[in-house]
Amino acid sequence: MSEWAGRTVLVTGGTRGIGRASAAAFANVGAQVALCGRTKETAEEAANIIAESTGAIVNGFACDMADRHAVDALVKGVEETFGPIYALVNNAGITRDGLILRMKDEDWDAVIAANLSGAFYCCRAAARAMLKQRTGRIINISSIIGLHGQAGQSNYAAAKAGLIGFTKSLAQEFASRNVTANIVAPGYIETDMTSEFSETQREAALDRIPMNRAGSSEDVARAVLFLASDAAAYITGHTLTVDGGLAM
Ligand code: NDP
Repeated sequence: MSEWAGRTVLVTGGTRGIGRASAAAFANVGAQVALCGRTKETAEEAANIIAESTGAIVNGFACDMADRHAVDALVKGVEETFGPIYALVNNAGITRDGLILRMKDEDWDAVIAANLSGAFYCCRAAARAMLKQRTGRIINISSIIGLHGQAGQSNYAAAKAGLIGFTKSLAQEFASRNVTANIVAPGYIETDMTSEFSETQREAALDRIPMNRAGSSEDVARAVLFLASDAAAYITGHTLTVDGGLAM
């Protein structure tokens, strides 16, 4: 029997890109999957497509990760539908780029709220059951920009670097209860988030990647699935870059 039979996974921001590929990867191995996006329509549409292609049970929930009450309701709803969450993937994220002197307060706040505070709300809500059950997996999606910074993305870099310190702290708090917390830090992945790159920006990015190609959402999803699997039972507080060698 698959190690995933009867296990529940929640992927935030599962309607597109890396989150959707991660939700599909868990569905493929037999987990029951909950995913969320900001609207019920997009979440249910993504959930139905994954359910149809994998035969797994996949539910879509509406939740704005920047809203702490909505996140509490999301976790409650998933637990009521499926039981305790075994693996939580905090993937939802946005960018609002701008050079620091021109950065608006609302762009700073929105990026910190969606990328960092949302992960905090969700970990706090889902960890209660994990700690009680003495088992669980948390995977937070950061970025190589959280490791190295990026001109024009100080808000995003701060949120993604914050996620790394946050996750290492959780790893230390939860280790004795057999709950692991790890980080996946993607490089340049082809999704809606990077689709606005100009051809020049794209070529410049590819030039810096030793493997000379952009990653796919599935490249990242495989790393997420690994860190959530039994094979990664003794790995916690780790940052796994998935970047074709870009950040080494
Ligand atoms: P996409 O823009 O393709 O997808 C973003 C996902 O997040 C969507 O499902 C969107 O759902 C959801 N989302 C955004 N804001 C919220 C919110 N406030 N509440 C709930 N859901 C939200 O992004 P990617 O797949 O490219 O990125 C996924 C993660 O990976 C992000 O955290 C990103 O920072 C990170 N990353 C991406 C890289 C890349 O090169 N693409 C590189 C490094 C890290 P909806 O719109 O339906 O609400």
